[in-house]
Amino acid sequence: MNSVERTVVLGAGLMGRLLACELARTGHAVDVYDAATPDSPGSAAHVAAAMLAPLAESAVTEVGVVRMGSHSLLRWPELIGTLGQPVFFQQQGTLVLWHRQDAAEATRFQQLLSATAQALPQLPAVEVLDGAGLARLEPALDERFPQGLYLPGEGQLDNRELLAALLHRMQALDVRVHWNSPRSPADFDERCGGWLFDCRGLGARADWTTLRGVRGEVIRIHAPEVTLTRPTRLLHPRYPIYIAPKAGGVFFIGATEIESDDMSPVSVRSALELLSAAYTVHPGFAEARILELCAQCRPVLRDNLPALRWLGPRRLQINGLYRHGFLIAPAMLDVVMECVSEGRSALADGFALRVESAPG
Ligand SMILES: Cc1cc2nc3c(=O)[nH]c(=O)nc-3n(C[C@H](O)[C@H](O)[C@H](O)COP(=O)(O)OP(=O)(O)OC[C@H]3O[C@@H](n4cnc5c(N)ncnc54)[C@H](O)[C@@H]3O)c2cc1C
Repeated sequence: MNSVERTVVLGAGLMGRLLACELARTGHAVDVYDAATPDSPGSAAHVAAAMLAPLAESAVTEVGVVRMGSHSLLRWPELIGTLGQPVFFQQQGTLVLWHRQDAAEATRFQQLLSATAQALPQLPAVEVLDGAGLARLEPALDERFPQGLYLPGEGQLDNRELLAALLHRMQALDVRVHWNSPRSPADFDERCGGWLFDCRGLGARADWTTLRGVRGEVIRIHAPEVTLTRPTRLLHPRYPIYIAPKAGGVFFIGATEIESDDMSPVSVRSALELLSAAYTVHPGFAEARILELCAQCRPVLRDNLPALRWLGPRRLQINGLYRHGFLIAPAMLDVVMECVSEGRSALADGFALRVESAPG
């Protein structure tokens, strides 16, 4: 690399920050441009629950994403360990619950997980729990549900602590960050020859026309009396929810999934559905205090799968992380770094990750 050549990263959300750190660590002089401010109000990463649940998510995605999730679960502790600031990360598995009347939904979910287990036998096996087994795992749910499923090994982290720690690391690595600076790849002359990475999430829509937003609403509450320790999903035919515990008695309850790029505040209907469903899991949530109601759109490509796209030599777009950004970001990072060092990625082939070229 030419000593004066600078590498440009567009977007300081989840992917942009991870990539900026890794590029700087491996000797690149990096400039990051973000349309917003350091607390990332415009990023999906700012509102995400940041659950790392490859098997649970296999009910709604492809095996390639599950593979990326398993790879990333191993990589997160290493990556967090380099940041020099604490980031809440746990790997206590996922609990899946349903009310008796929704047994058909549970059967369907179990069938989808069985298909994943056949395709990927190396994944930890699902454990079927009776009421006593459930209470042993989560005493707070004693006598509340007669059955459940336990998905061992799945994880979660604190999204905002991670974003802050990544920024801290970027500063330590002399990454230049330009806030309130919306840019597009066209603003950077291809002839300069330096690397450019476009990690603008939904902000790349004008250039990548198959991108769309899928609105998600979450509620952050403080419920110190509720002692649920691991991410818990409630299967439901109309409003499935998850409850993701964070440190200090804080829980994320989410998330709606609405085909719309509407970024307006959380609707009353969504708030009612999310909170009522959480209350049916544990009545202690009735006394919780609402800290925040957040709405944001997930960046999604036509097939709901992530992709890389070459805009030209050394110009790469990374997008379509949808509802799996935290689940797969380390795998995406490793793929991109292989592209940087080798011009292509064998890992991408293993993940069946689409790598395409921009039309024209
Ligand atoms: C409600 C909700 C819940 C979620 N829960 C989970 C979960 O539990 N687990 C999981 O794995 N994933 C989850 N996700 C998904 C995850 O948050 C996203 O997949 C991930 O944040 C996408 O990362 P990204 O870097 O591509 O985009 P983002 O994180 O959205 O970052 C894009 C960045 O680009 C910047 N930008 C935009 N336009 C421009 C421009 N013109 N110039 C410069 N900068 C620009 C933005 O300001 C932003 O900082 C959730 C998402 C939502 C909305």
